[in-house]
Amino acid sequence: MAARCLALMAALAASLLFLAGCGAPAALESNTYSMGTVCSQHIYGSQTALSGGTALLEELDSALAWRNTESEIAQLNQAGTAALSPTAYAAVKRALELAESTGGAFDPTLGVLTREWNISDADTARILTRQEAAALTRYVDYRAVTLDDANRTVTLGQGQALDLGGMAKGYASDALAAYYRESGVSSGFVNLGGNVTVVGKRPDGAAYTVGVRDPAGSASDLFATVQVQDASVVISGAYERYIEGPDGAVYHHILDPSTGYPAESDLLSSCIISADAALADAFSTAVFVLGSEAGMALVERTEGAECLLLRKDGRILMSAQFEALYAPTFVEGKPYAR
Ligand code: AMP
Ligand code: MG
Repeated sequence: MAARCLALMAALAASLLFLAGCGAPAALESNTYSMGTVCSQHIYGSQTALSGGTALLEELDSALAWRNTESEIAQLNQAGTAALSPTAYAAVKRALELAESTGGAFDPTLGVLTREWNISDADTARILTRQEAAALTRYVDYRAVTLDDANRTVTLGQGQALDLGGMAKGYASDALAAYYRESGVSSGFVNLGGNVTVVGKRPDGAAYTVGVRDPAGSASDLFATVQVQDASVVISGAYERYIEGPDGAVYHHILDPSTGYPAESDLLSSCIISADAALADAFSTAVFVLGSEAGMALVERTEGAECLLLRKDGRILMSAQFEALYAPTFVEGKPYAR
């Protein structure tokens, strides 16, 4: 299959722009490659905190990435049941809870489907027929996974495989933010391939400005900016990772668990802001699948989550508290309107 992968990892990492404060003390920065993406840390703290952050990202990557055959998740997928480390067990448990809160629109048991599509690898990606995809949805159901807290054992349903990719970066950001706070970092942010988590405020006392990418533009092209402190901004969109079929049709990486096919909602992108990055990450994926109406309803009934949705018809939608909390400004000259 001559599928062409258009994933642009480095561009992804640059998808959110930061407008740095003037006259601020120098920040320590690091750009590493982990969790399948560029991870940028930018902190006001010690060099030890920065290198500890990098080590933590690597630790989480090697526990959670299903593609890495050595990872605990890959081994669980292979064996169907496994006793996991506290880190991996907690991540699986959280993913299942978030699947439940999204009514399965976010479902980490779609590993068999993501493996078959393999959209992030141009060489092996394959366009499934609707029938093939629908047949594989029989392996997708987060309720078939059983947990044993006492032994930290996870048992998958028959034939199932986990893919924590829809939540892993958010989960890692939470771990990183907690680690920074313990390490005395008063201010900073981490950008994991477009998932941005802000700790504190900028050293000059202002909130951090985070950009929301224009799905129709390049990675540095924004359609909005928001003001954020102690929270995460997570955006999902079809533009992030996709393959093109021989007829030019686009197949993107966010799958609808009910069809096994790339989600066909009315959204161009879904941006979630929350103090809980794992929730924001799982919800950004789920809301993209659900579409504007059901997605907005999910966010409105969830405490501590707000959203900024961009619809295919150009409408911008915000949850009730979004404007008051994050003071968005919209870039002029864009074909989007409220
Ligand atoms: P995100 O960029 O956070 O929207 O996550 C997309 C990634 O999550 C994909 O590359 C898949 O690995 C995985 N994924 C795709 N669709 C779903 C879904 N409906 N639920 C859970 N994970 C998903
Ligand atoms: Mg996500």
